[in-house]
Amino acid sequence: MTSMGFSCTDKKNEKNRLDMVENQIRARGVRDPGVLSAMRRVPREIFVPLGSRKYAYDDAPISIGEGQTISQPYMVALMTECIELRGNEKVLEIGTGTGYQMAILLQLTPRVYSVERIPALAEKAKRNLASLSYKTINIKTGDGTCGWPEEAPFDAIIVTSGAPSVPESLKLQLAEGGRLVIPAGSRHNQTLYKVTKQDDCFALSEITPCVFVPLIGKYGWDE
Ligand code: SAH
Repeated sequence: MTSMGFSCTDKKNEKNRLDMVENQIRARGVRDPGVLSAMRRVPREIFVPLGSRKYAYDDAPISIGEGQTISQPYMVALMTECIELRGNEKVLEIGTGTGYQMAILLQLTPRVYSVERIPALAEKAKRNLASLSYKTINIKTGDGTCGWPEEAPFDAIIVTSGAPSVPESLKLQLAEGGRLVIPAGSRHNQTLYKVTKQDDCFALSEITPCVFVPLIGKYGWDE
């Protein structure tokens, strides 16, 4: 540690993080200043298992145990840009995983709710976020394909695992003008879709091909 309490590793991670934003995220067209600054601020290494920390800023997903992965940084940034947060929106995430995507969302709005199906991951995510001094951590263990009805409607919903199709249950929990981003397709390959609710109709647009772990639940895949 230096006299300022900032280790060489911290400095290296910060440099890697700034490079990640330039080379992986801005270079591929993500321009939302709020998203870029959130990606520059959140230390991704905290969310990655100890043995993989040296890969924290690689251009790839990383295994997080329980057969799950933390998404590639570019995908986190792109999905966050798609839901167009301008401050104080109420956001639902399905698939808390490590809590990294939730940390990025919490940089943009304080009102974030996240559902994770695997209890051990939900607990670890809470600890990861608490270690970074996030105060309000709304994480629930359960089947996120049903959304979080008690907290609906949401201005934005972000699903971080791949669905067979867009669950009606989630569309119904969107507020007027709300945005939903979700990978949907086969169990092994999906397309990232953005659904926008306007005048009680839903507009669907295709964003990009992608590969996510499966969304497992009542309105997702069987286990
Ligand atoms: N957003 C996470 C990565 C998510 S990986 C991060 O930033 O680290 C996908 C996650 O979705 C896994 O943790 C998996 O357990 C979870 N998942 C799968 N089906 C789910 C469901 N029906 N409800 C809630 N979580 C689910």
